[in-house]
Amino acid sequence: MKNYDFSQIPFDQIESVGQKSLLKSDLFCVSWLLGRYCNYSCSYCWPYASGKNKDHRPTELLVSTMNEIKRQSRERGFNSFHFSFSGGEPTLHKGYLDLIKHYADDTLNTNYQSIHMTSNLSFGKFWIKKYLEVIKPIDKASITASYHHEFSDKEKFCEKLLLLQEKGIFITINIVMIPQVFKKLWIDAHYFHHAGLNVTLKPQSNPTATAVVDGYAPWMRELMKKGLPQQHKKNSLVRKSSVRTSKNTLNQLVKKKEQTPKKNSQSITHSFQVEMNANDGKKWYIDQAERFNAFGFNNFKGWECSSGYRSIIIREPDGAIKRSYSCRDEPLGYIDKGFQLFDKPQKCISKSCVSSADSKIPKRKPGTNWPLYPDSIQPKSINLNV
Ligand code: SF4
Repeated sequence: MKNYDFSQIPFDQIESVGQKSLLKSDLFCVSWLLGRYCNYSCSYCWPYASGKNKDHRPTELLVSTMNEIKRQSRERGFNSFHFSFSGGEPTLHKGYLDLIKHYADDTLNTNYQSIHMTSNLSFGKFWIKKYLEVIKPIDKASITASYHHEFSDKEKFCEKLLLLQEKGIFITINIVMIPQVFKKLWIDAHYFHHAGLNVTLKPQSNPTATAVVDGYAPWMRELMKKGLPQQHKKNSLVRKSSVRTSKNTLNQLVKKKEQTPKKNSQSITHSFQVEMNANDGKKWYIDQAERFNAFGFNNFKGWECSSGYRSIIIREPDGAIKRSYSCRDEPLGYIDKGFQLFDKPQKCISKSCVSSADSKIPKRKPGTNWPLYPDSIQPKSINLNV
């Protein structure tokens, strides 16, 4: 990691990009914003991102939507799943643990299942205990913990995360590096990093989430590009409690594909999440798609993108089901009215792709043939029949 400099990546020559687990498996990704309701009121949080009204949908509707997502995904050849929940604060939904239990109970019918949530970690240790019980069967669990310096107690926040990490949950702390309090946040980030937790420094985005705000000095931008690399914990890659007995899990599949010996410093890129192909055939890697905005690598207009075909987002308050957060396309449907996935990857028509949930979805420049998924997925042969 120390020898791998992300600023050396020739972003203007990159022809394809995608998260490795998506490029190399039948993984279908769902990013699900359960509502805007949040118990914090951070001064820098934009009105579209949180609210004080409980705007949650009934649990039964969430469960039937999950079932329909899986039905359509399986029809297209995808039978591994990654569901990522966010809000507002997702853990405030009364049926959250029931929904996750429903998801976990289906694990043995899939090739692989993982779960992620983005949370402010305002829940207590009793909730953590229940959560750990419910997610037991799931192959991999991860949490992005948003650190809000105005509301969170730094020590307690750290303590809860270390407990979750100890139980095999992959933890990343996201800190929105507000330009006005950058130095304080940088010190807090170091505190977490030295405690053994992963920290991602995120630039603050504008009110429409289409660009990064002004106000960053060059040194700040530099720190966000290079600072605090991810620390990969061995015990978080495969959960010991997973019900799966088959050796063919997604983690093992990806690992197996990566066992080809690499030369020199490239061996350190094995744990990086995102893979890129340059026009000279050279492969490049980055630890997390979150970093793309810091490099201004977020315009894929005209590229062929597999979002909407092998990934969706669901967001409130309108319950829209879309290709991804940044996409300007019409929604694929609505949570209460039904939806239809694409039957193959489609062209990107959007000017910017700023969410990491979007930019990690495999995509390639027009006219190139870089693979977006394994050969086993055959879009043209799908009989939609719906
Ligand atoms: S904006 Fe949407 S379609 Fe365009 S690259 Fe991003 S995810 Fe794909």
